Amino acid sequence: MSFDPQQFKSQFPLFAQSENSDLVYLDNAATTQRPQTVIDAISHFYLHDNANTHRSSHRLARQATTMVERCREKAAAFLGAKLSQEIIFCRGATEALNLLAFSLGESLQAGDEIILSTAEHHANLVPWQRVAQRTGAVLRFIEDSQGVLDIHQLNTLINDKTRIVSISAASNALGVKTDLYSVKQLLAGRNINWIVDAAQLAAHQVIDAQALGCDFLVCSAHKFFGPTGIGLLYGREDALSLLPPWQSGGEMITHVALTQSEYAQAPHRFETGTSSLAAIAGLEAVLDWWGQQDRQAIQDYEQQLTHYLHKSLSALPNIKVLSPLAQNVGVVAFVPSDKTSIADMAHWLDEQDIAVRAGHHCAMPLMERVTEGGSLRASVMAYNTREDIDRLIAAIKSQPAQIS
Ligand code: PLP
Repeated sequence: MSFDPQQFKSQFPLFAQSENSDLVYLDNAATTQRPQTVIDAISHFYLHDNANTHRSSHRLARQATTMVERCREKAAAFLGAKLSQEIIFCRGATEALNLLAFSLGESLQAGDEIILSTAEHHANLVPWQRVAQRTGAVLRFIEDSQGVLDIHQLNTLINDKTRIVSISAASNALGVKTDLYSVKQLLAGRNINWIVDAAQLAAHQVIDAQALGCDFLVCSAHKFFGPTGIGLLYGREDALSLLPPWQSGGEMITHVALTQSEYAQAPHRFETGTSSLAAIAGLEAVLDWWGQQDRQAIQDYEQQLTHYLHKSLSALPNIKVLSPLAQNVGVVAFVPSDKTSIADMAHWLDEQDIAVRAGHHCAMPLMERVTEGGSLRASVMAYNTREDIDRLIAAIKSQPAQIS
C-alpha cells in the first residue's frame, strides 16, 4: 500500500487551523499532534460518560468503568502483553519510571547494582539516583558513543549484585534505537528486573513485550498521537505481583482499618485515586486508530524522511549533524558550526514558523559529552513532508550572519 502523507496529515486538525497554515512542526520527539478522533473521544467522554470509575454502581459510572477496562485490553494488545491486568495507567513514562524506581527500590539493599546507560532521558536517570541515595544501591552505566550503546558492555557490568537494568529503546536526544534483542540475550536466565523505556519507540515500531521478554516497559500516549496526562506501564504478571504499591490512598486497597490496609492486586494496586479518565478515552481512540493504520508503510515513509532530513542538514556548510543515521527513529540533532548560537537559530526558525527544540533535550549527561551548550533537534512523524524539511533548510540558509 502506498503511503499518502497529505491524506495522513488531514487527520490532524491542528494543521488545518488558519493560524497554523504555514506551520512546520518538527518537535515530535517532545510531543506529537492528535488526530481528530482523539479530540472527539475526549469530548465524547465529557458529554456522555463522565463519572468516576470502579466506585459507584450507577449507569454513568458503569459506562466510564467499562471504557477504562476496554482501553486496558486494547493497550495490552498494542504493547503485546498477554493479559490486560499487566497494563497500568500512569500519567506518562516519567510517572511509570518513578513508580518502578520507588517500588523496586523498596527491596534494594546497600551495594545492590542498577545498570542504566549514559544516554538516558532524565526520567530514566534521576529517579534511580534518588533510589541509590536512599538505599545505598550503586548505579552503573553502559557507555554510549554519539547515542549508540555498546550493549555488549552489559556482559562486563552484570554481576551477582545486579538487580535492575533500565535502558531506553531509543534516545530522545539523538534518535538511535537500542538493540533490545541483544539485551534480551544477555539477560536471559538471569534474575534481573529488565525495564524498557519505550517512550520514543512506541510511535515508530510495533512493540511486542512478550516477544521481548522484558519485565517492565513504559511509554507515554502523547508521543504516539494520544492525549497528554496518560501513559502505560506494562509489567509481566509475575513481575507485577511481586511489586509493592507506590502511591497510597483510594482504589489501591481491598480493606482499610485505622492502622493498616490490605492492598488490591495489580493493576489497581498501582492506580491510586482518580485516573485521567478523559485522557484514557482519548487513548482508547488512538489505539483504535493505530489498529487501522498500515504501520509498515508509516515506518518506511518515516525512514525516507529521516534520511532526507539527515542528508539535507549534513549538506549545509554551517551545520554539524550530531545524530547517527543508522537505526534512527526520526530525531536529528544538529548545531551551527559558525558563530550562530543555538538559541538564536531556534528563535529565527520560530519566526519562520518552524518548530524545533533547542537545548539539552532532558539528556544532559549525553548532550554535554556530544557538544557544548546543547543542540537543535528536528524530529519527524508521518505527517511531515519533504517540503517541511526544505522549509527548514531554506530558513537555516537565510538566517542573517551573526556579527559578534
Ligand atoms: N523517556 C524518554 C526516552 C523520553 O523521550 C521521554 C520524553 O521525552 C520520557 C521518558 C518522559 O516522557 P513523559 O514526559 O511523557 O513522561
